[in-house]
Amino acid sequence: MGHGHVVVVGGGICGLATAHRLVREGIPVTLLEGSDQLGGLGTFFPWRDRWIERFYHCVMPTDDHLLGLLDELGLRDSIGWRRTRMGMVVDGRSFPFNTALDLLRFTPLGVLDRLRFGVVSLLLRRLGRGKDLDGTRTEDWLRGLYGDRVWELLLAPLFGAKFGARFGDVPALYLWQRLGREGAVSVRGYPEGGYRAVIDALRASIEDGGGVVRLDAPVRRIGVDGGVRIELDGGEVVSAERAVSTLPLPLLRQLADDDLAARLPEVRLPYQGVVNALFFLRRPLSGHYWTPVVRSGAEFDGLIQMTPLVGVRPYSGWHLVYAMRYTDRESPLFREDDAAIAARWTAQLLELHPSLRAEDVDDVRVFKAPFVEPVYPLGYLARRPPVVVDGTPLLLATTAHVYPEVTSWNSSVGLARRVVGMLAEAPQRVPGQGIPS
Ligand SMILES: Cc1cc2nc3c(=O)[nH]c(=O)nc-3n(C[C@H](O)[C@H](O)[C@H](O)COP(=O)(O)OP(=O)(O)OC[C@H]3O[C@@H](n4cnc5c(N)ncnc54)[C@H](O)[C@@H]3O)c2cc1C
Repeated sequence: MGHGHVVVVGGGICGLATAHRLVREGIPVTLLEGSDQLGGLGTFFPWRDRWIERFYHCVMPTDDHLLGLLDELGLRDSIGWRRTRMGMVVDGRSFPFNTALDLLRFTPLGVLDRLRFGVVSLLLRRLGRGKDLDGTRTEDWLRGLYGDRVWELLLAPLFGAKFGARFGDVPALYLWQRLGREGAVSVRGYPEGGYRAVIDALRASIEDGGGVVRLDAPVRRIGVDGGVRIELDGGEVVSAERAVSTLPLPLLRQLADDDLAARLPEVRLPYQGVVNALFFLRRPLSGHYWTPVVRSGAEFDGLIQMTPLVGVRPYSGWHLVYAMRYTDRESPLFREDDAAIAARWTAQLLELHPSLRAEDVDDVRVFKAPFVEPVYPLGYLARRPPVVVDGTPLLLATTAHVYPEVTSWNSSVGLARRVVGMLAEAPQRVPGQGIPS
């Protein structure tokens, strides 16, 4: 039996990888992207004669799914790997934060806490094995192991940057998995030609295989009536036997017709968004790739410097620094005008780095994203939404489905593979029955 037409909604990495895999399985596919660019959170913007990622991205050596995809695209060897280092700014002072010696000299913590921090950090992955970390609050787990002072002075502000005040409530499993991905790994990779090269290669692979990629095709309504009925802005209707939605669940809920809305997963997750500024500098700040900024009077809670990872060539000789603050899309910061954020964050960056002068800042750009990842509740493993929307030919492949894996291009590519496997196994929809979950 042949495969009917599948529509993929969303042209971020998850949608692109899904469409790429469908084409390779010989399944006819149309990908609908609402904006005028592919890549989603990994997308880029034109800067002078370059294309630059709006949000910092890098590849980890443990990103097996992504590296496998890059292999298929002939791009695996285009990844340049570098050993990177981490810094830390606490109370306005900068510290390197890589070696045992760095830790011994890390004066924001007392001597005993430094030792405890070092020993517990070394053992943390092992200490988590066999524990119900999905049902344990991160704060309870880390406070118990590191003690109150290390939690309050360092860990809460450090990791809390990602989930805000709710961080302590997120399952410890999330952090444990993150340590598995990033932990002691200091080698990071970046594709030659940037993430745009990967996005372009995915598009070419889909189109060469007979798939259709449509930009500027925002979906405004989705319904299921035997097949899937997708209405675009402007009124055009695209029908398909089956569809995969990669949109964040709150967005999908807004687009679903009443019948579909009633069948969508019940779990309602708050999502964290991000405000992110790019500084094009005449000089580097330090040799560190990642620097959390803690209690230092800045609104951003971390800096990513691209120079140690890729040098200055991709940025016409400028040193590119990303500053980020994860925040709710309803927060005053998220709603604030980009120019005001750029001006204030530039002043804060100059304040933190006295050797940097205003004339060293050549340009500043601000980008925001409302949906980066869900703030996972305790016990989420059992509450994760199923991929198949019950009794329908609609499948979901979103960041809410990758937990406990870390939200990343790697986990999206892995999810895409799983979802396409399910579609390929069920050649055609049995009317009225959807796809077995
Ligand atoms: C600041 C930041 C740093 C990150 N760093 C890294 C990193 O170093 N390494 C890493 O691997 N990952 C990183 N990530 C995570 C990574 O970017 C995401 O996990 C991944 O891009 C999610 O892909 P996605 O396809 O699921 O969603 P998205 O990228 O959000 O794609 C969804 C797509 O759907 C489209 N869409 C929305 N509404 C509609 C509609 N109505 N109709 C049609 N299309 C629509 C959007 O335009 C978008 O293109 C980072 C993310 C951020 C924000």
